Amino acid sequence: MKPLVIAVDGPAASGKGTVASGLAEHYGVPYLDTGLIYRLVGLIALRRGVDLDDGGALHAMLGAWEGSLADPEIRLRKAGEAASRVAVHPQVRSYLLDWQRDFAADPKGAVLDGRDIGTVIAPDATAKLYVTATPEVRAERRWKQMKAQGEAASLEDVLEDIRRRDARDGGRETAPMTPAPDAVLLDTSEMTIEQAADAARRIVEAARARRDDPR
Ligand code: C5P
Repeated sequence: MKPLVIAVDGPAASGKGTVASGLAEHYGVPYLDTGLIYRLVGLIALRRGVDLDDGGALHAMLGAWEGSLADPEIRLRKAGEAASRVAVHPQVRSYLLDWQRDFAADPKGAVLDGRDIGTVIAPDATAKLYVTATPEVRAERRWKQMKAQGEAASLEDVLEDIRRRDARDGGRETAPMTPAPDAVLLDTSEMTIEQAADAARRIVEAARARRDDPR
C-alpha cells in the first residue's frame, strides 16, 4: 500500500502546525514543519548581514551554512518576517526543495505543513488540507503566544505583520500560498484545538477512503 502523506498548508497562525503535528501523532508518521526551514535561512541571513532581498547572495550563503531547526530564536517574530522575505526568491526555494521532497517520500509516510506542500512539494499527497482563520483571530492567537514567550508587541502590530505576510506569501511569483485545487478548506476561526483536530482527522479519513476505493 502507498504510504500515507498528508499536506497541510495555510497562512501564519491559522492552526496548521497544531493540526499537522496532531495528525502525525495520530497516524504515527514523521512530521516536518517546513516553515522552520525558511525561518532558519532567514535567521542565518540576519546574523550574517546578508541582504534578505538579494536572492543571489542568499543562494551563495546556502552553499556554506549550518544551523539547527531547534535554534531557540527560530520562533521569534523577526525570524518569521525574515523567512517570508527569503521565501520569495526562487533560488532559495529550489535549494530547499529536495530536502522537503525526500522527507515526503519517506516509506513510513509523512505529514508536512507549510505554504506549498499540496501544490509543489507533495502534489500526490493522500490528503490535502488548507487551514485558515480570519486575520483578526490569527493575530490574537499569535499575540497570546508571543506574550507567553515573553516577546512584547501590540496586538495591532501583530495584525499588521500577519496582513503583510499574507500579502507577500500569497502574492509572490514562485510557489505562492494558495490552496491546491484538491485541498479541503478547514476554517478554524471558531474552533477549539480539539474540534480542529477532529475535523482534520475526518478530512484525512475521507481522503483515505477515496484512495482505497477510487470509483
Ligand atoms: O509557517 P511559518 O509562519 O513558520 O513560515 C514562515 C514563512 O516561511 C512564511 O511566512 C512563508 O513565507 C515561508 N514558507 C514558505 N513555504 C513553506 C513554509 C514557509 O514560503 N512551505
